[in-house]
Amino acid sequence: MGTKQAKLRRLPAISVILEDDRVKELAVSHPHMIIAEAASEVVQGIRETILREGNEGGTEQDLSAIVDKVISRVDEKSRPNLRKVINATGIVLHTNLGRSVLAEAAVQAINEIAGGYSNLELDLETGERGTRYSHVEELLCCLTGAEAGLVVNNNAAAVLLILNTLARGKEVVVSRGQMVEIGGSFRIPDVMAQSGAILVEVGSTNKTHLRDYERAVNDETALLLKVHTSNYKIVGFTAEVSGSDLAKLGQKKGLPVYEDLGSGTLIDFSKYGVSHEPTVRESVASGLDIVSCSGDKLFGGPQSGIIVGRREIIDKIKKNPLTRALRVDKFTLAAMEATLRMYSDEEKAVLEIPTINMITMPREELRARAKNLGARMRKRLGARVEIEITQGFSQVGGGALPEENIPTFIVSLNPKVMTVNALEERLRKMEPPVLARIQKDRLLFDPRTMLDGDADLVLSHLGKIMETG
Ligand SMILES: *Cc1c(COP(=O)(O)O)cnc(C)c1O
Repeated sequence: MGTKQAKLRRLPAISVILEDDRVKELAVSHPHMIIAEAASEVVQGIRETILREGNEGGTEQDLSAIVDKVISRVDEKSRPNLRKVINATGIVLHTNLGRSVLAEAAVQAINEIAGGYSNLELDLETGERGTRYSHVEELLCCLTGAEAGLVVNNNAAAVLLILNTLARGKEVVVSRGQMVEIGGSFRIPDVMAQSGAILVEVGSTNKTHLRDYERAVNDETALLLKVHTSNYKIVGFTAEVSGSDLAKLGQKKGLPVYEDLGSGTLIDFSKYGVSHEPTVRESVASGLDIVSCSGDKLFGGPQSGIIVGRREIIDKIKKNPLTRALRVDKFTLAAMEATLRMYSDEEKAVLEIPTINMITMPREELRARAKNLGARMRKRLGARVEIEITQGFSQVGGGALPEENIPTFIVSLNPKVMTVNALEERLRKMEPPVLARIQKDRLLFDPRTMLDGDADLVLSHLGKIMETG
């Protein structure tokens, strides 16, 4: 007890810490507030350890050790909270890691627009007020074959906006097999309720027929909705109504038909050995009146919701007051425009839009990257690790191509000097953090999602971690 109190008494006062030469040096490049806060947190932390661990507590109390802690604390506190990480998981559209990586051209476009003024809502021809949506509308129409289009905050916003515009207080007919929930809080029935539309479910979980929709239509019906089951598949004894059949029914009944495509793409992935995912152009061509999808899933652009369809409907949406609340900012528009421009040349899009490039990366390239990374790890870490190059699977992720496990080559690392869990944690806490997958007692690095320069950083981190234990 006495020792505990004595230890507490021996702790230096904050003012003494702040007068230390090394701490004073910190003040040249860091605000006083941060340093003072760090010092008091460090002292408080030590105080708590002493109280908890009692007399046996082996806490360092000498000034120089405390100053070390303060310096590293200041360093931590000065780092941005939102920062770059290295994705070695092989999950291309990792929602927790920010989904799509933007193309260089899109990053440049943001840079250009962010640091200055722009013609965001100015028509440079007439000098009059313009609309922010005009910058991407023509491109969207050209790439999808639609009459009109706009971009909003995300696809959830698009769904909400479309339902609210076309069906508030009215009924919307949806198949029971398409009551989608997307990670987090996006669920069709909930969004429907928020939009003010009334959900009418038809069919059964595994089978819905055209006649089910037909029977549900009455004077209160405002919209027929089709939802792409982007993160699950119903297999076995199943039936769903095609977009074109639903479009025909809509025409017959004088009702608009809307498809929420979920991930939505402009590229036919089946050409690249990946499963076919319906393209926006196909949906438009099948006669659907309105289609929406995410901008940052398979599309490979910034977070946004893309809406295309009949001019008359798009005009109505633009006039909905909710659109103002769900609008995109200039950075998103700049990045989206740059991304859309790349799609006018598919070869360029596949090469330069990282999301698409990663998904379509040839086997041989993956093998070469894995071998190279593995060889460099062996060379750098020697007997501290055992390295194998194995075949494995990457995932598209982000609620896209649900069953799609894309074959890849993996660097599989077995750490001999620490547990795999400890290594995973150390890597995650480095700067920049590295995210890799644990499988049994090995840590897996999938080169598919690793960007230029990532391998160097991973190697340097591994070197530091293993040399210092
Ligand atoms: C992902 C998804 C959404 C939500 O899109 P966000 O862009 O994440 O808001 C909506 N519907 C479907 C079918 C989806 O797959």
